[in-house]
Amino acid sequence: MIFNQIFDAINIGLVILDRDLKVQKWNRWMEVHSGIAEKKLIGSSILEAFPHLDNPKFHRSCKSVFSFGNFCFFSQKLHHYLFPFKSTSYFESTFEYMQQSCAIGPLRDENNVIQNLFIYVQDVTEVAVYEHKLVELNLKDGLTGIFNRRYMEVKLREEFGRCKRYGGELSIIMFDIDFFKKVNDGYGHQCGDFILKSVSARISSIIRNVDYLFRYGGEEFCSMLPETKLEGAMQAAERFRKAVMEMESNYDDSIVKITISLGVAGLNDDIGSVEMFIKKADEALYKAKREGRNRVVEMS
Ligand code: GH3
Ligand code: MG
Ligand code: MG
Repeated sequence: MIFNQIFDAINIGLVILDRDLKVQKWNRWMEVHSGIAEKKLIGSSILEAFPHLDNPKFHRSCKSVFSFGNFCFFSQKLHHYLFPFKSTSYFESTFEYMQQSCAIGPLRDENNVIQNLFIYVQDVTEVAVYEHKLVELNLKDGLTGIFNRRYMEVKLREEFGRCKRYGGELSIIMFDIDFFKKVNDGYGHQCGDFILKSVSARISSIIRNVDYLFRYGGEEFCSMLPETKLEGAMQAAERFRKAVMEMESNYDDSIVKITISLGVAGLNDDIGSVEMFIKKADEALYKAKREGRNRVVEMS
């Protein structure tokens, strides 16, 4: 009696199955989240109500619980959920289904024989949402929503290392908005921010899926192009330049037009470090500035 009350009051899902995987108990929490009453399930196989559980992993887990008295865990990170319940997060959630941390364990009778197993289901959606947001905050730039410089260093090191070890092509394009100070001074800082967002969105829309765009600093960006030679990156850079030049950004009834200058570097045997690689692109970018802006220059 008391046990039953606890069973229903507890804030986790609890299910008891017999050796044929027929439901013996289905607590209140499971009723609320599944929308299925216990009395509808009692005595019928859990696989009937939840056919997706009819998979090798679930069967193997139940078998090992019955045979060896093991505990089996289903982590949110690997499986996301065991039971497809609607997400419970109050925040803007990236998850359609409730994220669950689950375990399956043995229940022994008075003769110490395992006749039943229990499944507990814990709702960890909120934690998973926070984790997801933290990762995003760490990797993305708050203003433009594109990847930040910290992530650029991680990603560039990774790709650089891969190319040096296994071969392959890699290029980077550094670019900087021309006379950006004039935008801020002429139209206000808010307009400057708006332009930064517009440029980020425009370039993001024209790069390939495998390419990356990072905000390197104030109005300076870097695009990383894996499996791309210098010549290919020069063409991409030219497309960036044209796309930005043709942009007409509407801000407060004014049309703001801008251009960018770009420096391109392709990885070769002479480039021994990530720092040197960036420096090559940076030097080309400054040459583009010196030569009159709104142009693409390749590394020397
Ligand atoms: P150049 O053609 O030589 O690149 O000239 P520039 O005016 O673009 O370059 P400069 O480095 O003199 O100015 C960059 C300006 O970018 C100064 C800084 O206030 C502005 N800036 C940097 N970050 C932001 C930002 O997040 N928002 C806005 N609105 N402005 C920014
Ligand atoms: Mg600039
Ligand atoms: Mg700059």
